[in-house]
Amino acid sequence: MGRIVSIGECMGELSETGAPGALSMGFAGDTLNTAFYLRQSLGPEWQVDYVTAVGTDGLSDRMLDFLNAEGIGTAHIRRLADKTIGLYYITLKEGERSFTYWRNDSAARRLASDPAAIVRALENSDVAYWSGITLAILPNQDRLALIEALGQFAGRGGTVVFDPNLRPRLWDNPETMRGWIHRAAAISDLCLPSFDDESTWFGDSDPIETAKRYHAEGARRVIVKNGGGAVTFLETTDKTGVLSIPSVEHVVDTTAAGDSFNAGFLAAELSGKSIEDAIAAGARLAAKVIGARGALVKDATAS
Ligand code: AMP
Repeated sequence: MGRIVSIGECMGELSETGAPGALSMGFAGDTLNTAFYLRQSLGPEWQVDYVTAVGTDGLSDRMLDFLNAEGIGTAHIRRLADKTIGLYYITLKEGERSFTYWRNDSAARRLASDPAAIVRALENSDVAYWSGITLAILPNQDRLALIEALGQFAGRGGTVVFDPNLRPRLWDNPETMRGWIHRAAAISDLCLPSFDDESTWFGDSDPIETAKRYHAEGARRVIVKNGGGAVTFLETTDKTGVLSIPSVEHVVDTTAAGDSFNAGFLAAELSGKSIEDAIAAGARLAAKVIGARGALVKDATAS
């Protein structure tokens, strides 16, 4: 039995249904999306747990019900009586989605405020997955505590997997973001950036430059996603490669493309596949996810 924990923020998602006055309610968030696809992709020999903080209110209860119903473990989700979950609202206008967020005071911002709880959550786990969004929403001292806990987990032989998921709007300024992202990469075994973001915020001229930069910061292996373009990997300084991915004819909604790629890749690698086959699996899963509407596509797997 293996165990993987995904750490971050899950939010309530309100979207217009098209019927006047009617909204539908769901749950999503980058690290939760990956946990969802890991759960769908891995067999019962893997336990997938989500680590966050929620409130004690009815809306928080509904989120936990949702996670439990999906088979995602909730034992390490802290409940804070004075907080509730973040929310976002999707407006659809002529096929384009725009987002309004209420998350500045969400419970998830306190997910690392009890470092001992994080250490407990990581105990007996093989893989810890987190992202730049997880880091962005925390106060500085909690960022340090989380990095320290994950660094110790890696020191004990745990695998730390990090998606930089650069979101400058969640940070005070781009320079602060860049500094913390590199500190996070330094304790990660595997870093999974998207070239589009990296070229914008780090000025990389091509994906191999992104891979080499994260490797130089301390990430052992790097896989650089690039939308519909080829995926670049760096396994060791001497082993790099570029793999083209199948084109998707009808892209419906690219929400969670990177999150699902990460899950497809990890699930394949944890089942013993080579890095090349695992990248192909990640791309197959992401292709299914972007071919349907919404972040969480039921029954989408790499097979
Ligand atoms: P991104 O984070 O946008 O670089 O995309 C993550 C992954 O989603 C990529 O590595 C692809 O596997 C898949 N993907 C995203 N956009 C496309 C696209 N237009 N066509 C095919 N695959 C895509």
